[in-house]
Amino acid sequence: MAEVSQGQPTALALLNVVAATDAPELSDVSRQRGQAMTEVKTKTVEHGDTTKPICPKCKSDQVVRDAWAEWCSATGGWVLRTTFDHFVCDACGEDIGEPKWIDLSRTEIIRNQNDRFRKGDHAIPGRHLLTSGIQELAQTSGAELSDVIETVAAFDVFTEDNDPHKEHDFGQFTYRSKNCFWKIDYYNIDLSGGSEDPSDLSRTHRVLTIMLAEEY
Ligand SMILES: [Zn+2]
Repeated sequence: MAEVSQGQPTALALLNVVAATDAPELSDVSRQRGQAMTEVKTKTVEHGDTTKPICPKCKSDQVVRDAWAEWCSATGGWVLRTTFDHFVCDACGEDIGEPKWIDLSRTEIIRNQNDRFRKGDHAIPGRHLLTSGIQELAQTSGAELSDVIETVAAFDVFTEDNDPHKEHDFGQFTYRSKNCFWKIDYYNIDLSGGSEDPSDLSRTHRVLTIMLAEEY
């Protein structure tokens, strides 16, 4: 198997812009919770990875807020510029004065970490592995290995069937007309066994394996 470095976390960088702009309007509770986290973490993740806003009326987490975006010629896309204190619930359609902040469930934390890791976020410890079958496939079809890594990073077809635990730890995709899988396993830091708590980054080393279905 080959170990490969992770790609540039472009999508994540954008998400961090959102979180950073959002940060000054955190409730006191979530701000204190953020400060209790390690100093290595920047302001951008103060509430981003352990809490979420919900609608105080229907409890849905489909909360959106008004914002301005400006065109960025460098990336050819809209970039968030400013957010405003006007929140709306997409589920019940109500105007929300102030969303309620609640802790994420353990499953949500693991799912978010898995998504970030798969998309190349270096803050999530672990490595990506490509099986010999995948390497040969890329080689014989004249493709770059980064192609398959990007395909896996972009995967977003999660269903009840392929993601029954809602942790986003497995996916099936087609690459160069071949049926392929990716999966994430959780090891402890010295790789001597499984992680005791996959939601705890200080005790978990993730391994994302990309393989041909026939190698499973
Ligand atoms: Zn609502």
